[in-house]
Amino acid sequence: MDLDTIREVVVARERADLRMLGASTAVLAGGTFLFSEPQDQLERLVDITTMGWPPFEVVADGLEIAATCTLAEFAGAAPGRELGMPVLREGWPGTALFAPSCRALLASHKIWRSATVGGNVCLALPAGAVLGALTALDGVALIWAADGSDRRIPLRDLVLGPGHTVLRPGEVLRSIRVPRSSLLARTSFRKIALAPLGRSGAVVLGRRDPDGRCAVTLTAATVRPIVLDFAAAPDDTEIAGAVGALDPTLWFDDPHGSPEWRRHVAGLLARAVAAELRVRES
Ligand SMILES: Cc1cc2nc3c(=O)[nH]c(=O)nc-3n(C[C@H](O)[C@H](O)[C@H](O)COP(=O)(O)OP(=O)(O)OC[C@H]3O[C@@H](n4cnc5c(N)ncnc54)[C@H](O)[C@@H]3O)c2cc1C
Repeated sequence: MDLDTIREVVVARERADLRMLGASTAVLAGGTFLFSEPQDQLERLVDITTMGWPPFEVVADGLEIAATCTLAEFAGAAPGRELGMPVLREGWPGTALFAPSCRALLASHKIWRSATVGGNVCLALPAGAVLGALTALDGVALIWAADGSDRRIPLRDLVLGPGHTVLRPGEVLRSIRVPRSSLLARTSFRKIALAPLGRSGAVVLGRRDPDGRCAVTLTAATVRPIVLDFAAAPDDTEIAGAVGALDPTLWFDDPHGSPEWRRHVAGLLARAVAAELRVRES
């Protein structure tokens, strides 16, 4: 839709172009959310897709994923699925979570080609499955502050609630680093929705690191991604206990599922994920 309060769209080429971000000036990435509803508080957008950030950079201790990496690029990064994207090492089974997390979004291929990883993370919707996948993989966000300084925040600490993050006015998510241990991890993914093509009601993602440590991450069912850590793959009693012990106010309530239903199905999916992590233990 047209945003008739917007007076200027700035094409960002360098970090200095981001200094004008603030209360009435927002980051424009893929625009799939920004142009989907009125943004009456905004007068200016700063387009960051022109910054020229490569979608993926292999670094010494993992993989740096640019905020401007599109969902299509992100999904194509899974082993054996090149789709014209940089071929990531087939020895990184952790990247197997990338594609299903994109498919968990209720979105067309047109959206996939525009929507970005950073937009999904910063929007902080419970149904943000790309945010969920990168949280499950222990991703760490690199934040560019308006004063030119940088800070890194584990994704598990970035989201406070639906649509709310710890980002301060003027801050930009530059990239997310997935550590090497998560790239080498075995993973598991489960999703349920009230309708076959409906918005996710619950998404559960499992990760088993090479050293045996495991994490089970709940999203869509909860108001923010919740990570449950275990020293080894949890058995049925342990996973049921951990899910059952969650603060009742964490279960999300919207037309895509009641908190009671979400708690129930998330518990079932978490058991299935834990069982898959156990099988791979042998
Ligand atoms: C049909 C449809 C279905 C959708 N389904 C889902 C769904 O199931 N789950 C879901 O989570 N979302 C969904 N969305 C919402 C949205 O499309 C996605 O979350 C998408 O990933 C947002 O990315 P974007 O690049 O288009 O963000 P934009 O629309 O460009 O930006 C989104 C918000 O994040 C801010 N932002 C973007 N990038 C940065 C950055 N690097 N640093 C700081 N702030 C930033 C923007 O200022 C804006 O407030 C859907 C949208 C549509 C139109």
